[in-house]
Amino acid sequence: MKKSILFDLLPLAILLAFAACVQSDQNVKGNSFLDAAAMDKSVRPGDDFYAYVNGTWIKKTQIPANDIGVGGFFDLYNRTQDSLHALLDSVSKENYAKGTIDQKVGDFYASGMDSLTIEKRGLEPVKLYLQRVNDIKSTGDVMHYAIDLQRENISMIFGVGVTSDDKNSGMNIVVLSQAGLGLPDRDYYFKKDSANLAVIKAYQTYISSLFRLAGDDPAIADKKMMLVYNLEKELAESHKTNVELRNPKANYHKMAVAALNLEMPAFAWKRTIDDLGLHTDSVNLQQPKFYQKVDVLLKTSPLDAWKAYLEFHTLDAFSEALGKDFVKASFDYNGRALSGQQEQKPRWFRMVGSTDGHLGEALGEIYVKKYFTDSAKKRMLALVNNLQAAFVARINNLDWMSDSTKAKAREKLGAFVKKIGYPDKWRDYGKVTIDRKTYFENLISCDKNQYDFNAAKVGKPVDRSEWGMTPPTVNAYYNAYNNEIVFPAGILQYPSFDINADDAVNYGAVGMVIGHEMTHGFDDQGSQYDKNGNLKNWWSKEDSMEFAAKTKRIIDFYNHFVAVDTFHVNGALTTGENIADFGGLSIAYDAFKLTKEGQDSTTIDGLTPDQRFFMAYAQEWRSKYKDEFRRQLVAVDVHSPDKDRVIGPLENFGPFYTTFGVRQDDKMYIPENERIKIW
Ligand SMILES: [Zn+2]
Repeated sequence: MKKSILFDLLPLAILLAFAACVQSDQNVKGNSFLDAAAMDKSVRPGDDFYAYVNGTWIKKTQIPANDIGVGGFFDLYNRTQDSLHALLDSVSKENYAKGTIDQKVGDFYASGMDSLTIEKRGLEPVKLYLQRVNDIKSTGDVMHYAIDLQRENISMIFGVGVTSDDKNSGMNIVVLSQAGLGLPDRDYYFKKDSANLAVIKAYQTYISSLFRLAGDDPAIADKKMMLVYNLEKELAESHKTNVELRNPKANYHKMAVAALNLEMPAFAWKRTIDDLGLHTDSVNLQQPKFYQKVDVLLKTSPLDAWKAYLEFHTLDAFSEALGKDFVKASFDYNGRALSGQQEQKPRWFRMVGSTDGHLGEALGEIYVKKYFTDSAKKRMLALVNNLQAAFVARINNLDWMSDSTKAKAREKLGAFVKKIGYPDKWRDYGKVTIDRKTYFENLISCDKNQYDFNAAKVGKPVDRSEWGMTPPTVNAYYNAYNNEIVFPAGILQYPSFDINADDAVNYGAVGMVIGHEMTHGFDDQGSQYDKNGNLKNWWSKEDSMEFAAKTKRIIDFYNHFVAVDTFHVNGALTTGENIADFGGLSIAYDAFKLTKEGQDSTTIDGLTPDQRFFMAYAQEWRSKYKDEFRRQLVAVDVHSPDKDRVIGPLENFGPFYTTFGVRQDDKMYIPENERIKIW
């Protein structure tokens, strides 16, 4: 079941696909926290600051065969996986009392590591599912099966979730969204370039191979594959584009279930909502066109197509939990074809991810005890408070906003909830049962529990203490519904944050991350929500027109960046993140200037405090990605490529020009009156 909309820092795809190459940072850390050996001093900082700071590293560093990229956040992620690995190895060897979180976490991991048992069981865990699909005799049966799988938290045909009501943010509401596709996005079904055609081919191969592994002969497997693919293509036609999805108002349609029942009889709304165990008489139907299409397809598509579709999506959902042939088929598509990864990650790495994904807060509770300190939390909170103060000053000084809107903006900023490290209250996994011998059943127990947890919230007030990411997660987010910024323990590590680093380094790295999340409250989406998390206008008409004009300039500016081959960055898709990057840099810099080091000129390793600030920023974002992964991100990810996340904001930021003596003939130079500044 879908979580509420989070505006995060990093593409989620990375977190699913990260690999196991551990690159120790200890050697570059030293006393300096900046990697001098990574620089390319033959490049003028004003020509390409990203290459100036990272050029030698970029030339020398290879992407490991079992990875999709390499860089600062990859290092951080890999190091966290190592910590979790050590922890799970030890917890899984102990004999904890049945029902304790240590027992559940340890046995879950042990069951996933027990590849012998998994191999021996073969298809047995999915037999009942396949039998049920085989027995389907009507459209009603199709819906019935899909609903049962939804209750195991496996999305079939449509997407269902429980989240804050956009217009009454204190209450939970059922949300129905477009879904049902196996390619990453609707556009994949229609693009004709050779890279995309290769992805389609790999996807079709994947579909066929799962049917074969489940027992079909090749000709039948291929025939069923075409049925699945064509049905998905029809669903994809009714999907909104990912740019259209960014407009919160256009994706809000609160409807009475009774009215929907009349409008779309095949979807049998009343019965569907009841059978989903959701006690409500109204839902937010986010993309009505998609549901109208599903309703038509339920009546017009042959039953065989629906059966093939349900069978494939069942096998796909469970492929990582079955034997090695299924895991390999999944890797060939998800890893190799979509992301360019050449080799699979070791089993422990994947099972660490699975444990985090299924028992995240139980694992997190054990993790933070060992790896997160109160002093880190305190230092981080001080940084956040300084950034908040710097942001207030920036709002006061804006030359394009009226005093009345400024007052509202300050109110919203002042109301920010700050969550750092881990939740105050841990999730209860009391209803989850875990046995060391049955990985498959463990997954189902966790997934059911997750669904029930969400379903129980329907019609109840929102619990604002909940977290949308687990503590070890290397990411951060702003949640517009709660007007909150959240920094899990995972991201509060070097090179993002280090308790021993000087302020220049911490403000340039994690400071920019904090400012980024704060700015999400004021980007083109977040700014539509008020301080209470409601989709409600608080802007004067003139101010919102000024803001829209500035947003348009950011879109045009990013459309020029080339991500890979001839693929340009999609300025409209990445607007919110780009606005957040621009704001993040400016606010972090202003906050840094409020610190003692920020007002000083004492050099460290020959670098001034300001130089260290900008270099820490560029260093944190250094990375190299496989072309396949880059192409996927350009198509689906709301973030710009890392290099452009550094170059774009710096080209428009005056203090960078002064610090590095950027001249008119430098490539990054933009005349002062043409630079974009929003926050
Ligand atoms: Zn973001």
